[in-house]
Amino acid sequence: MDRPRITIFDTTLRDGEQSPGCSMNVQEKLRLAQQLDRLGADVIEAGFPIASDGDFEAVQSIAASLRRPIIAGLARACTGDVDRAWQALQGAARPRIHVFLATSDIHLRYKLRITREKCLEQAREAVRHAKSLCADVEFSPEDATRTDVAFLCQVVEAVIAAGATTVNIPDTVGYSMPEEYSYLIRTLRERVAGIDKVTISTHCHNDLGLAVANSLAGVQAGARQVECAINGIGERAGNASLEEIVMAMRVRPDRYPYETAIAGEHLYPSSQMLAEITRVPVQPNKAIIGRNAFAHEAGIHQDGMLKNPLTYEIMTPQSVGVPDSRLVLGKHSGRHALALRCEQLGHQFERRELDEIYRRFVVLADRIKKVQDSHLLELIQDVASGNVSSSDVTGRQGKKFPPAAATLPFPRAVSAAAGANANDSHPAQISGSAGQASVSIPFTDHHSEQEDYLWGV
Ligand SMILES: [Zn+2]
Repeated sequence: MDRPRITIFDTTLRDGEQSPGCSMNVQEKLRLAQQLDRLGADVIEAGFPIASDGDFEAVQSIAASLRRPIIAGLARACTGDVDRAWQALQGAARPRIHVFLATSDIHLRYKLRITREKCLEQAREAVRHAKSLCADVEFSPEDATRTDVAFLCQVVEAVIAAGATTVNIPDTVGYSMPEEYSYLIRTLRERVAGIDKVTISTHCHNDLGLAVANSLAGVQAGARQVECAINGIGERAGNASLEEIVMAMRVRPDRYPYETAIAGEHLYPSSQMLAEITRVPVQPNKAIIGRNAFAHEAGIHQDGMLKNPLTYEIMTPQSVGVPDSRLVLGKHSGRHALALRCEQLGHQFERRELDEIYRRFVVLADRIKKVQDSHLLELIQDVASGNVSSSDVTGRQGKKFPPAAATLPFPRAVSAAAGANANDSHPAQISGSAGQASVSIPFTDHHSEQEDYLWGV
């Protein structure tokens, strides 16, 4: 069956980065962009080049290093911004200039202090200029959902005539309701000449908790691109959450028969990497990737889960990349399993780096027996920061590495009953905590670094 393909436009690095406490440096942005590439995002909005030199550099380095996804740079509707965005995108295999201009009366009057006529002209000119540089041009009428509909239609028609290939309809202030938003998309499709030649996009904020619902309503009304962010980060209450949109379509194809190119198993690693880089944790009850998303604590739920996971689980943890709780790091598979767990936490290493991490890991595993994700992340950070002494790692055990009994990062109370009832087709059920690497390596003194290498196959 042919399902319409939805373009996933990730704005974690632009709108997401604008959220308080989420700023990232160039290296961090590049690392996250590489993860977004693995995740399968179609478009990566890498930044707002004129906003700062750091933003410019980030867009430039992401554009130069990623070949598959489209790389977008944001620009206000003026020549200087568009030129700067284009400059940053020079190395891109597939560049996109994303031009925006507010169109609601409240923004025109109080923020921009321009008339509707001037707004229309400015939008048209900026898109025309962008189009003279780049074939792929997106236009966003900021605050579209509070814009007079007739005027919005006029602006959209003008930018399409000027060469825009994607028209994004932002619910900038998170004010819209799902039926209202889908009506708006439908109205544009009915009234705007040339709209069937361009991709309509959603960009919904979460001020009323409706960002995902509105985005899905937009898709049902004919939008074919969704702008969203990992962990739903973004201005104020955030953007539509990428993982929620993707999984809503995947779990309910009967209602949302659309395809995306997102690799589900990279959702959790992407979320973890973002949380680690920004040090902004994910709320425990966050859908899809929160640490309680697959936890079952109430007795009746545990009972149901053990009888059949389908009683309380609509998707498996594995389908979104939550680590396989049954993964046990043993003496012989240890190094490979460690690499896999690192990957699940959003870290991929060259062989040499992995050697060092593994070396420290076994020392640590020997000391504390059970290495949890939080320990592993500390260790990875230590290695990354060039903190070389392994005695240092173990020496800080009491301080940096809590004892093995510390709170599990991924509590799944049902796991306690574990083992016997395993239903392999649905791995959600039983077994050890997903957040715990279950490391109990029978480690003895004869271990040497040479053996680390031998295990690395
Ligand atoms: Zn936004």
